Order: sequence, then C-alpha cells, then structure tokens
Amino acid sequence: MNEIRLVAKNGRKCTRIPVGRSIIGQDFLVIAGPCSVENEAQTLDIAHAVKVAGADLLRGGAFKPRSSPYAFQGLGLKGLKILVKAREETGLPIVSEALDTRDVAWMCDYVDILQIGARNMQNFPLLKEAGKSRTPVLLKRGMNATLAEWLNCAEYILNEGNPSVILCERGIRTFETYTRNTLDLSAVPAIKELSHLPVIIDPAHGTGRAALVGSMSLAAVAAGSDGLIVEVHNDPASALSDRDQALTPGQFAELVRKVRLLRGFMDGLN
Ligand code: PEP
Ligand code: MN
Repeated sequence: MNEIRLVAKNGRKCTRIPVGRSIIGQDFLVIAGPCSVENEAQTLDIAHAVKVAGADLLRGGAFKPRSSPYAFQGLGLKGLKILVKAREETGLPIVSEALDTRDVAWMCDYVDILQIGARNMQNFPLLKEAGKSRTPVLLKRGMNATLAEWLNCAEYILNEGNPSVILCERGIRTFETYTRNTLDLSAVPAIKELSHLPVIIDPAHGTGRAALVGSMSLAAVAAGSDGLIVEVHNDPASALSDRDQALTPGQFAELVRKVRLLRGFMDGLN
C-alpha cells in the first residue's frame, strides 16, 4: 500500500468533517432516504419520516446508474430541487450521486455531500472533478475493488485539494447469489488501520434484502463503522429502484433506536 500518501494513516489524526449538525468521523452518522427521488410527495414524506426517526442526513438519487437503459434514470435537476425542498422542510443536509464530470461543479450548489457510486469509483476524471470542489465526497467502494484500489481513488480526490472524503463499503461481488453483494465488514477495521478517513457501511446495497439490513447495521456498529447509509421508502413495493432492500419508515425507526443504543454501549467499551 506504499502508493497512497495523503489518505494514509501515517500517525495522522482521524479526519473529521462537519456537515449540518454532525461531525462525521466523530458522531455516528445515519444517512437515510429513497434510492431514487421519484416525485415531490414521495421524497418529502420519506424525508419527514427519517427525520422523526433520527436520521442525520437525507439521501436520494437524482441521477441513477441503472443496469438497463430502459430503467428509471432519475429526475436530474428536478430531483435535486425536490431534495433542496426536503432539506428546507426538515433541516436535513442532502447527499446525492453525480454520474458525470460535467455535473459536479453545479451539483455542489445543491448538495451537502456528493456521492460517487460504486460503478464510478475508478472514473478518474470524475474523481479529479470532485477533488476540485470543496464539497465533501462520499466515495463508494467499487464492487470489484480491492482496498488498495479504493484508497487510491480517495487519493485522487485529496490530491486535487479536497480533504473531505467519506469512504463507504457497499458490498463486493463474490460467488454468492442469495445476497445482492457480499458486505465486507472487515473493510471497516482494515480502513481504520490504513487511513485517517471516516468509513461508513451501506447494508442496503451490501445485502439487497431489507430483512438483512438491521442485523448488518448492528454488525457495522460493532465493527467500528463511523455510520450507515440505508434506503427507506414510504411504499417499498412500488419503489422505482431497489425496492427489495428498502426499509419502511417504521423499520427504519426501530433500526435507529437499536443502532444508537449499541453505539452508546460501544463508546462505553472504549
Ligand atoms: C445508490 O446509492 O443508490 C447506489 C447506486 O449505490 P452503489 O453505487 O453502491 O450501487
Ligand atoms: Mn440504490
């Protein structure tokens, strides 16, 4: 791993990133919201529900990386404007994914955290563009990326002058097909050994199954994760993307309660 410089631990203090009322890397961060922004009513409804349940940030995709060109591609700018309205109503900062280098600069006027998705982890021009902004970046691990490859992608962003990167483990491809991906929880303590950057877990994409999200969230807390990003939908069965992994607001509220309790217990151990 001697190729990484700026992201390497090397005795540095853990990076802390203030966003809204949270200090990422210090406070346990819960990001929640729909996979896709589908319309205003759906997003506002979910935003209010996750806020009441105790989320710190709202997620929602406006530009969606879909396997099929015929699948819902997201609402684009209209979706971002809906997220801004949700932020105004709830006070929750917003996270959304950029797919295209041409969108990074202007999207930073809308979002509080810019997401770079698994499929774009090694899109080097996109990483450089995100590195030129001063908006914190949520960098997901590619589905076939080693830790060294992932950290080198974070290095691209820091190397352009943006120090605010949050790593997100979201499952890797293995021979297993029961789960959508195999959630590599060992990435958390491994990243903590190698880097000063905060790392969070995405148990929704990591498993692809709503029924497994709660257990893997608790396991993520126990592994020392700095937070979670989960998908919540007011009507999962009718979601336009990732319906099988979306929690209902009620399931999410229960998850937040348990996660915060376990984190409190973990803090007592340290
Ligand atoms: C998402 O967050 O909805 C998403 C597309 O995630 P990933 O890039 O991890 O597949
Ligand atoms: Mn999704």
